[in-house]
Amino acid sequence: HADTAMYHAKNQGRNNCQFYSAGLSRTVYENLMLESALRNAEERGELSVHFQPQFDMATGELIGAEALARWLHPELGLVSPAQFIALAEESGQIVKLGEWVVRNTCRQIKQWLSGGLKLDRVSVNVSALQIQRGNFAESVGRILCETGLEAGFLELEVTESFIIEAEQSLVMLDALRQMGVELAIDDFGTSYSSLKYLKRLPIQRLKIDQSFVRDIPNDPNSNAIARAVIAMASSLQLETVAEGIENSQQRDFLMAEGCRSGQGYFFGKPVPAAEFTRLYLAES
Ligand code: C2E
Ligand code: MG
Ligand code: MG
Ligand code: MG
Repeated sequence: HADTAMYHAKNQGRNNCQFYSAGLSRTVYENLMLESALRNAEERGELSVHFQPQFDMATGELIGAEALARWLHPELGLVSPAQFIALAEESGQIVKLGEWVVRNTCRQIKQWLSGGLKLDRVSVNVSALQIQRGNFAESVGRILCETGLEAGFLELEVTESFIIEAEQSLVMLDALRQMGVELAIDDFGTSYSSLKYLKRLPIQRLKIDQSFVRDIPNDPNSNAIARAVIAMASSLQLETVAEGIENSQQRDFLMAEGCRSGQGYFFGKPVPAAEFTRLYLAES
């Protein structure tokens, strides 16, 4: 059993400092166990994709969703994406995993559309490594072709941090954009990016990071940052999506500042596809 093995490793680890890397809660040994379990997770049916709705805050209409990977380990239960995505990135498994999420999502969008669910797009998170690998656009193109999905229904979310220096990433984003895929910058505001650099990216939207949204409207700094991001986006003709909205005060503030789309527990949590259909098909 994986969990008992980990338990023993932990106890042995008390006398064996090599198992621990300083400051990390998970041991090197545990990471290796998880990493190897993740390798077989897909074929064992342990992976799934949950979907969190995004709404037009002015009209209340469903715009679409964000696809979020889930891993249900038979013994450990749900492993948080923060953990297994990081592991998958370190081990290179993210390339295969990421492709699986894109395929699963494209199939699902196709099914929703033919079932009468009205949505503009569904977004999928993409890691730096996937973009840097060089054939990502090709693999997305193949998936769109296989599933028969029109490219504009798929949005890819990338974080700003890794695109800044890499010219090659820009080429990749251009290729995806030319195929008709929509592009968004995720967690915007958490790392440095200049206006000049933003202008060069073929993106359609910025997602305001939830760390700013969390403290609206009581923290003047968060308010100022959100306001500045929305104003900057609008001057670059980009849409903004606020993530992590948990209450009506946050929604009202963001709407008043001109942010159109919202995502967060206030509107709806990430749910399995079937539940998403049940919740949102009737009202769309
Ligand atoms: P993210 O892309 O910024 O996704 C938003 C995260 O915030 C999700 O966490 C979501 O469940 C959570 N969230 C949504 N609304 C609220 C809210 O109102 N309050 C709070 N406190 N949290 C909210 P999750 O699902 O745990 O995913 C964490 C991160 O893992 C994601 O952050 C994304 O960076 C990464 N991730 C998830 N799935 C994938 C994937 O398929 N591929 C890649 N490369 N990364 C993924
Ligand atoms: Mg995201
Ligand atoms: Mg985000
Ligand atoms: Mg994030």
